[in-house]
Amino acid sequence: MFENLQDKLNKAIKTLKGQGRITDINVAATVKEVRRALTDADVNYKVAKEITDRIKEKALDRKVLIAVEPGQLFVKIVQEELTDLMGGQAQSINTKGEPAIILIAGLQGSGKTTFSGKLANLLKRQGRNVLLVACDIYRPAAIDQLKVLGEQVGVEVYAEPENKNAVEIAQNAIEHAKKTNKRIVIVDTAGRLAIDEQMMQEIEDVKRALQPAETLFVVDSMTGQDAVNTAKTFNERLNFDGVVLTKLDGDSRGGAALSIKTVVNKPIKFISTGEKMEALDVFYPDRMASRILGMGDVISLVEKAQQAFDEDEAKRINAKMRQNQFDFNDFLSQLQQIKKMGNVKDLLGMIPGMGKMVKDLDIDNDSFKPIEAIIQSMTPKEREKPELIDANRKKRIALGSGTSLTQVNNLMKQFEDMRKMMKQMNRMQASGKLSKMMK
Ligand code: GDP
Repeated sequence: MFENLQDKLNKAIKTLKGQGRITDINVAATVKEVRRALTDADVNYKVAKEITDRIKEKALDRKVLIAVEPGQLFVKIVQEELTDLMGGQAQSINTKGEPAIILIAGLQGSGKTTFSGKLANLLKRQGRNVLLVACDIYRPAAIDQLKVLGEQVGVEVYAEPENKNAVEIAQNAIEHAKKTNKRIVIVDTAGRLAIDEQMMQEIEDVKRALQPAETLFVVDSMTGQDAVNTAKTFNERLNFDGVVLTKLDGDSRGGAALSIKTVVNKPIKFISTGEKMEALDVFYPDRMASRILGMGDVISLVEKAQQAFDEDEAKRINAKMRQNQFDFNDFLSQLQQIKKMGNVKDLLGMIPGMGKMVKDLDIDNDSFKPIEAIIQSMTPKEREKPELIDANRKKRIALGSGTSLTQVNNLMKQFEDMRKMMKQMNRMQASGKLSKMMK
């Protein structure tokens, strides 16, 4: 996500690092590079010019404050301006109403249906009673797709495959929601490949009939400047409340994220970073700005961990670690929890300074596959008591998991090292307690 932009901005700012102070000359050169980095990332030229003019002004204004290093001061200014550009504060969605209605609009292929499923998943996890509504009257496949997603996240999907009146389907769905005590209704609408009068009229009619608490416009970030133009057209007709940027896991240049707020004056509320139902994040402009500048995003990382980790399982594993009984079953369970948090490379990118380091690394969730295969080829007894695994058993495990003996040996060694470390930590903790007791 935003790797290119990150790279270029860092290079631009580097010229200021190591310089003793901010001067008109070095600021002008750096600002020019920043502007180029932004336009290369598909940021609208006017927007890029406005923001860099402000950065320059601020940098020169604060040059008297030479207490901090110029490079750091400049990074801080750019971070503030990027945050502002992307909307400042994070904006939540309106869930008022009995039931609250959330209308989802966007072009076909933008990721509307996937997002509807993800939002249902997110709200359900917050304890809300949700209904999904399939309002695409043109593509039966779209109804089936939503049904599959609904089943996956455990949310009911309302559809009337024979009905060709979107307004009627939506109204019937609301009645159904009231009868079945649903608190939030997410209405997935039909999209076309390009802006089309009939589609616009239809979604306008649905909006007028439903009076939704929240209308979200979904747009594919990979479409660059087009994303901004489509947003403009939809906004003129629908006056939507917020934007959902999808496919930020791809090699989008990020320009849409940076320009949409300025162009349509509506906040980005969610970003979607994958096809899995968990790959949805609330959009925090300040955290995104920090990530773009390679400052990392530790807050999001911690939040993701909290969401993905099953608390009871974490307690159980913690207790086993403390009793020095951590085994391969626990190891496998932890691996699976980490995978649930999303793309490993993206996660590593959230650690300050790591983004650049992992950029060219060839790691993804598939990198865990051999490890999982090895553990799954062990017998239940072997997983519980790894010391049982002798040379013969190692050979059998390698064969069974389609890995090499070296891979099995490496994993065994790493696992042993891990257990040793846990033991040491337990001892240290125990002695810490002892010293407290003696006080
Ligand atoms: P719709 O026509 O607007 O409903 O779009 P879909 O939800 O069917 O999405 C179109 C395609 O994009 C599907 O293959 C989705 O799996 C994929 N997709 C949706 N969101 C994302 C995302 O955030 N990242 C990636 N990589 N793919 C996505």
